[in-house]
Amino acid sequence: MNRHERYAAILNYFRKERPVAETELEYTNPYELLVAVILSAQCTDKRVNLTTPHLFERYPTVFELATATSDDIFPLIRSISYPNNKAKHLAGMARKLVDDFGGEVPASIDALQTLPGVGRKTANVVASVVFNMPAMAVDTHVFRVSARLGLTVRAKNPLQAEKQLVKYIPESDIAMAHHWLILHGRYTCLARTPKCETCGITSHCQYFEKKAGKKKLVKKRPVKLKKPESKGRT
Ligand code: SF4
Repeated sequence: MNRHERYAAILNYFRKERPVAETELEYTNPYELLVAVILSAQCTDKRVNLTTPHLFERYPTVFELATATSDDIFPLIRSISYPNNKAKHLAGMARKLVDDFGGEVPASIDALQTLPGVGRKTANVVASVVFNMPAMAVDTHVFRVSARLGLTVRAKNPLQAEKQLVKYIPESDIAMAHHWLILHGRYTCLARTPKCETCGITSHCQYFEKKAGKKKLVKKRPVKLKKPESKGRT
């Protein structure tokens, strides 16, 4: 199976099995999604969803958040990973969004990355989810699953993986493919013990091919016969 065939088979599988795939972060507008994605770095979506309602109750728009200091924000997000840094990022992001963008979340990956706390992954998530742009955000799940499936080859970092993925995935599928790979990584292709026995794409997965190949090799090894026990002299 060449790389184009592998991509086609895997995308067809997801199109059929998961026609609808979306972020599990809860939000009602671009401002809320941006805040939620910043908070979700190295934290579960579930934990973020438990935290954001209180935060948005206190700061319903970016204009209120822009008046807050990181010390004001910290107690509201203390149960999330890295609350100190993230409180600083949120305060800085809100001020810059108000000062430089009139409070509107920009629809440009470069502009998004000028905001504190917004790296390439966060910018790509916002661009694809809010603005439906063909941006591939590579998080830990996307990176791992793509490598195992053989969609990426020897990618050393998320940017290399992103470049390979957008080269082969049709533009119209890129935003959705991001969610397909995340959800597959979160529920089936787990980091430590992938659930290959319940996975629907084993026949297109490079990792599974290799694993199955190894098993065959093990089975083929000739069984060593035990040396007959020496009867010895009595
Ligand atoms: S077959 Fe296993 S390794 Fe491959 S994608 Fe499925 S769960 Fe992951």
